Amino acid sequence: NTHAKILDGKATAQQIRNELKTKVDALYKLYAMRPGLAVVLVGSRKDSQTYVRNKHRFAKEVGLESFNHDLPESVTEARLLQVIDELNQDPRVHGILVQLPLPAHISTEKVLQRIDVSKDVDGFHAENVGRLCTLKGEPGFIPCTPQGCLELLDRYNIQIQGKHAVVLGRSNIVGIPAAMLLLRRNATVSICHSFTENLSEEVSKADILIAAIGKPEWISGHWLKPNSVVIDVGINAVKDVNTSRGYRLVGDVRWEEAYPRVRCITPVPGGIGPMTVAMLLKNTVKAFEQRTRGESLS
Ligand code: NDP
Repeated sequence: NTHAKILDGKATAQQIRNELKTKVDALYKLYAMRPGLAVVLVGSRKDSQTYVRNKHRFAKEVGLESFNHDLPESVTEARLLQVIDELNQDPRVHGILVQLPLPAHISTEKVLQRIDVSKDVDGFHAENVGRLCTLKGEPGFIPCTPQGCLELLDRYNIQIQGKHAVVLGRSNIVGIPAAMLLLRRNATVSICHSFTENLSEEVSKADILIAAIGKPEWISGHWLKPNSVVIDVGINAVKDVNTSRGYRLVGDVRWEEAYPRVRCITPVPGGIGPMTVAMLLKNTVKAFEQRTRGESLS
């Protein structure tokens, strides 16, 4: 639907999962094997537990094998690396995801770089980062959240080429790979961060805005270019005594102000969150296909 005002990530993610399920069933007929996703969770952060539960649930829904490895907060780095090594070796596992953030006593970089590149479905291994940033040539695995942003734009037929895209945030997980993906698609890209002077002026130039700063309702709708496209990646919990949980989730953009002004916008929740999980499943199926194709060639 090219005229929709709300970019419905929840519905689009469901559609993608349906497509993946068809594909996974066909692969099973061919290979008598299912793509396997291993998710490693360290500690007991409530938000991480929720994300991991969702990944497990949706992996099952599309017919993937899903392996959960829950390790205590106190686990040593050496033990965690050993678990990664075992998963690297395990032929039932095609994709490995380590839920972030890790406890402070563990080097995140060391852990992420230990994951076999061919199983790096989060796309954080240096080789996959390098391939994404090498504009000529095919990327390897692309990080799930920015990939979900682009997939949503594509499914709503939103033109990227030649447009001015502004990315708010420069993390390895969202901002940087989002900017690289937009650049690959021939957008003119600005990246803003906490040292950016006059954020509102930068925001006002965006035909496409990707907001990923993690600050509740920080971006005023009045800053936005009229008729722009807004992808709100932020997921922020704010206190709300009127809800049973005592909080509600909001994005980085002030929805009430933005909605009347924009051409289209993603809701929070129900926007990029579900798209991210769908891309993880897609990457896992891709990892399986590459592995099985490689084995049938050798
Ligand atoms: P990080 O905290 O790693 O990065 C935040 C970035 O925003 C940094 O680059 C920081 O700048 C910048 N920033 C912070 N405050 C401002 C400001 N006032 N003005 C301009 N720039 C600012 O967060 P992540 O990238 O991991 O996540 C961002 C948001 O996206 C969070 O709300 C997170 O919950 C959400 N998220 C959602 C996902 C999903 O599935 N939908 C997945 C991943 C994240 P500097 O570099 O200078 O510090």
